[in-house]
Amino acid sequence: MHADYDVIVAGAGSFGMSAGYYAAKAGARVLMIDSGDPPHTLGSHHGGTRIFRAAYTMGAAYVRLALRANALWHELEQDYASLRTEQDFSSGPLFECTGVVSIGPISSRFIRSKLESCIEFGIAHRRLTAAEAREEWPGLFVPDSMEALYEPNAGVLHSERILRVYRELALRHGARLLPYTEALSIEATPDGYVIRTTGGDYYAKRVLASGGAWIGRLLPQLEAVTPIRKAVGWFEAPREQYGSGRKRGSDKSVWKAATRSGPPFCRAARSSGWTSPVRLSATPGCCCSTNLWARLMREPDWICST
Ligand SMILES: Cc1cc2nc3c(=O)[nH]c(=O)nc-3n(C[C@H](O)[C@H](O)[C@H](O)COP(=O)(O)OP(=O)(O)OC[C@H]3O[C@@H](n4cnc5c(N)ncnc54)[C@H](O)[C@@H]3O)c2cc1C
Repeated sequence: MHADYDVIVAGAGSFGMSAGYYAAKAGARVLMIDSGDPPHTLGSHHGGTRIFRAAYTMGAAYVRLALRANALWHELEQDYASLRTEQDFSSGPLFECTGVVSIGPISSRFIRSKLESCIEFGIAHRRLTAAEAREEWPGLFVPDSMEALYEPNAGVLHSERILRVYRELALRHGARLLPYTEALSIEATPDGYVIRTTGGDYYAKRVLASGGAWIGRLLPQLEAVTPIRKAVGWFEAPREQYGSGRKRGSDKSVWKAATRSGPPFCRAARSSGWTSPVRLSATPGCCCSTNLWARLMREPDWICST
């Protein structure tokens, strides 16, 4: 069998499109296959923004990945600079450094593990009491039983714009993209793999299966992945109420909170220029409810929920 490609990427979403870009940039012959035309509304990448921070609770290995990703986002901005001069390409930043504040019960694992990550890896941070947090973000109701950890160098990634940039740059580096094509199976051959798709069979030395929530259909041997629906709420956020670091003159903030009863339950992102100023999302199984959200937001101006 002759391998047409060095790498075939099955599923060109957040992970697949970025991997395709880096592989093509490194000189590999790359084919990216997607059942949609990414970015699209069915992918986990869908939506304007994603929070990016380095102080994670998942341990040192994860923090190292986040710090590496941080360096790569800045590199990507440089590659993107050449595209931004082109008239028909969307402009605007890929990463916006807004700062991120995490709120949780005093000395909870949620706050403690983030703090440990900050100290171990030298991540800039500020620890605030509830009273200090209330003063900083008057729109948030932070009970006295809670504290806050502020990460000034964290911020927001413009996820769909990033996917478009990865796609365009990958194509310019010679990658090929097959949209509206479903990968049906991956079979090993003596010298590589054959991917059977709704658009024919393709051969490669290596395959990246990056189908996100659909991965179980392509690789049924993996333990079942069950996609879940997350409740997401959007709020208006008056600058003077929710702007972070008012003392430092910034009008932007991203924040995230945890309750005593479960894992981190909500997060929010805002900036004066965004279409959706504050986003709150609930992790299924937690006690989060719109009432709880409303308690956190002093003056919730409820727009919609899904
Ligand atoms: C509401 C929400 C909020 C989030 N907030 C954050 C956040 O603030 N910060 C953060 O870091 N992360 C956040 N995440 C997580 C982050 O968005 C995901 O981890 C990431 O987008 C997953 O990327 P992926 O490539 O695995 O999936 P996707 O982006 O969904 O890509 C998978 C792609 O594979 C394609 N595909 C699937 N099966 C096949 C097949 N058989 N053949 C061909 N193509 C196929 C799909 O069409 C899709 O394009 C959030 C996720 C959600 C849903």
